[in-house]
Amino acid sequence: MKNAGVIIIGAGAAGLMAAYELSKAGKQVMVLEARGRAGGRMYTLDDDLHTQLGAEFVHGDLPVTLQLLKEANIESIPASGEMWHSCDGKFSKNADQFEHWDLLMEKLNQLKNDISIGDFLQQEFGDEKYTTLREWVTRFVSGYDTADPFKASAFALRREWQSEDDEQHRVKGGYGRIISYLVNTSEQNGAQFYLNTVVKHIYWTHGQVEVVTSGNESFKAKQLIIALPLGVLKASPSEQASITISPSVGMCKEAIGQIGFGSVVKVLLQFKTAFWEDQSVTGVDLGDMGFILSDEAIPTWWTQRPLPSTLLTGWLGGPPVERKKHMSNDELLEEGLQSLSNIFNINPDKLKNDLVASHVVNWTTDPFTLGSYAYDTIESAEARKVLNTPINYTIYFAGEYLYDGPAMGTVEAALKSGLETAMKLID
Ligand SMILES: Cc1cc2nc3c(=O)[nH]c(=O)nc-3n(C[C@H](O)[C@H](O)[C@H](O)COP(=O)(O)OP(=O)(O)OC[C@H]3O[C@@H](n4cnc5c(N)ncnc54)[C@H](O)[C@@H]3O)c2cc1C
Repeated sequence: MKNAGVIIIGAGAAGLMAAYELSKAGKQVMVLEARGRAGGRMYTLDDDLHTQLGAEFVHGDLPVTLQLLKEANIESIPASGEMWHSCDGKFSKNADQFEHWDLLMEKLNQLKNDISIGDFLQQEFGDEKYTTLREWVTRFVSGYDTADPFKASAFALRREWQSEDDEQHRVKGGYGRIISYLVNTSEQNGAQFYLNTVVKHIYWTHGQVEVVTSGNESFKAKQLIIALPLGVLKASPSEQASITISPSVGMCKEAIGQIGFGSVVKVLLQFKTAFWEDQSVTGVDLGDMGFILSDEAIPTWWTQRPLPSTLLTGWLGGPPVERKKHMSNDELLEEGLQSLSNIFNINPDKLKNDLVASHVVNWTTDPFTLGSYAYDTIESAEARKVLNTPINYTIYFAGEYLYDGPAMGTVEAALKSGLETAMKLID
């Protein structure tokens, strides 16, 4: 039996940030992490490219992330590059989809009661002349927010889109450097990390918790931070990933169900050459291509611009993942290659021959995530208030899904939640 002042379950961004702040404040902290590594959905490979299998971008000038980068003396690099579209083998940089964007924002700003963005589009932009706009917004919500448009809150998306002008960055060397900084500093301050420690049961009374693992190990503390992904918290009792809490926390269970959690598959393909930069292959100058969006099975791809790289990253998010989530990684790799073959009009066998390395990461079936990241439904704002209220000053929740602000579902959201939760315990 191991004892501490505070147990944190989950060493993702939220759990690590809480451990960092609490250990700095002199609290005795134990962090229990199911995987053999810290970082959760921040997962940087230790290779030459610092390949990022999970989070990759810093979506704007986000205060907690930027402060942490400064403290840790880690640089960020602006992510640049042109946005291209591919349709029926043709490339374009035109922006038809933005034609009615100002009107869309105007109507969103006039909206008095929250509804789903899907319903909003049908109500306000049902006319045929808005077809491109409707399709584009639906695809964006599904692809970027990985959300079901008929569940995603129009208010939350309005807030996200109002702050969309900030520049995107990448962490130099990858998010893994932030993980190392948080783990090392916390350890120096006395925090203890237990990896490969899968929590199964939580027993609690006022001021006392016992956490029991799949290996029947027991950990005790006065307070507990549950920094698990929403997908794991949503798992039904019959699912392998589920965790029991006794006595049960009924209101929290209901609130957990009211926050959306999306789906994603990421496909990373490194080729011998950056073939898309060869104008004789594509017929257009894609030399500064940042992103390319298409109608293919894996529709979105990006490069590492402005850094030179032969890596293409494919992305499938939102409801379409549900239809593919049980495909094997080999099948998803084939879909990725076929998608690129269709976009660039290159024989898939040639692409396969030129492949140097590949990684397919199906976060949606990963038992320690079970999805992508959170999005707001129209019930989420109230649900968050419930989950952000400590239970008897004993159980606290932390995670990206508890953040209330424009950077939904991001590392920033998780760091901020971890920070705020730690402050509640310190106060
Ligand atoms: C493919 C992908 C791409 C993304 N891209 C970006 C991006 O570019 N920019 C950005 O800002 N955000 C991005 N995100 C979102 C971002 O990664 C997350 O919002 C953030 O990292 C979540 O942190 P967290 O601490 O809330 O959860 P997690 O990182 O999920 O941490 C939870 C931890 O709990 C552990 N755990 C689970 N079950 C158990 C158990 N039973 N016992 C013990 N431990 C357990 C997990 O292993 C994990 O380490 C991306 C996410 C994904 C999946």
